[in-house]
Amino acid sequence: MWTRQDYDAQQAMIREVSEANLASRGFKTSARTETLWAIVGHLFGSTSWEHIDQEKTVPLKFFRLGAPTWENVILIPQTPAPRCTPEQDVYNRSKIPAINHKAVLARRVGDYARTLNEQSNELLTLAKLRREHNDFNADTSHWVCLQSGNEVIDAYNGWVNAFNNAVDGLQIGVSRVFDNAYREVDTLKRCKAEVLRERDVFENSRSGGQGVKGINDAHAKFLAQEAVCSAFALESYDINHKAYDADAYYDALKKVASEEAQVSAVTELDRLRDEYVYKSIDVPSPVDFTRTASSKRFTFAQLNTGSYSWAILKPVLLAALDGIADEMNAAKYKIQLNSVYRNPARSSGKSQHQYGYAVDIQVFDFNGSGGSVDEKDWNLLKIITDRFHPSYTEPVAESGPGHVHVDWRQQSYLLIGGGELPECLA
Ligand SMILES: [Zn+2]
Repeated sequence: MWTRQDYDAQQAMIREVSEANLASRGFKTSARTETLWAIVGHLFGSTSWEHIDQEKTVPLKFFRLGAPTWENVILIPQTPAPRCTPEQDVYNRSKIPAINHKAVLARRVGDYARTLNEQSNELLTLAKLRREHNDFNADTSHWVCLQSGNEVIDAYNGWVNAFNNAVDGLQIGVSRVFDNAYREVDTLKRCKAEVLRERDVFENSRSGGQGVKGINDAHAKFLAQEAVCSAFALESYDINHKAYDADAYYDALKKVASEEAQVSAVTELDRLRDEYVYKSIDVPSPVDFTRTASSKRFTFAQLNTGSYSWAILKPVLLAALDGIADEMNAAKYKIQLNSVYRNPARSSGKSQHQYGYAVDIQVFDFNGSGGSVDEKDWNLLKIITDRFHPSYTEPVAESGPGHVHVDWRQQSYLLIGGGELPECLA
């Protein structure tokens, strides 16, 4: 006879399983808990004491295993039911092959899990085997009335043993795969550091290192390693109270990738600075460039005569340009800047145009002599530019009379009185 005390003890066990253990064993949704209660309800006919048919029910004992399905909780009879009919007994015995098959499926899970090694990068086969085990239904719904011998119990225990063995195998194999996956992420982090190093050299050294090529090469290695990391088809497991969280792994991967993207992305300014690297000339720092600088008299668009939206425009040049323009204006000379900042691809040698120090000013028929411009016109403009102490004026023999090239390539040179540099670097 089943008593109220039996029922209360049973309910306590159910509560322990459902509340204390289910969450920690991978029961992630209430649906699974509902499934458990549905089973209990089916076995009891009801989950309410008042509605239980005491003649047909017996206390149950929970066997709790450590794998993340409701099958963790296997309900088996603690004692044979007193009123099992011969027909029900026959039914129970007919289930023995199914229970044995369930044990075979569990052994497959454990055996395969143990074969996972350092090279394994997927758990898909394991997932498939687990599904086969979990999906195979060994119906035990009539076991509440079991009363014949031990054969059914033995089969059941065989399954339980196989299941425990599978859980141990899972822990071994799954932890190997996760360890391996995280090792690859560590390698990926080193690849990211390499991209960062290339970026650092590009932005902070005079030579620019390998420039955009260095960044791109390091980025290509990063992508190859990222593919290795992404190839891990991980699944979340919760085995013997240890969590193997696939989402956390993929989140870690995403984090590294987004950090790397910030340093590997090649910007317009990168491409401009890469022209200096390509020409093996001094590479200006990123902070030397501007997209907005202008002078009192000239807009950024007038001053940037390069191919990019960025330019270098040194304050010494801007101040001189405004002063020269004021004087040309006073002399009623037409003012036209032919070229100020130019990127290296549009400059020659070590041209000061690519460092923001130089300007080419158009020569017109300033003396009104008629005809084309000549050296006399050129000299009239040079008289004005000389007043602003350029560090270099390209000789008319080199520039021709059509424009005056002046630059302030050495601001410190200005301090000791100006003059011309010996080497033609225009
Ligand atoms: Zn020039």
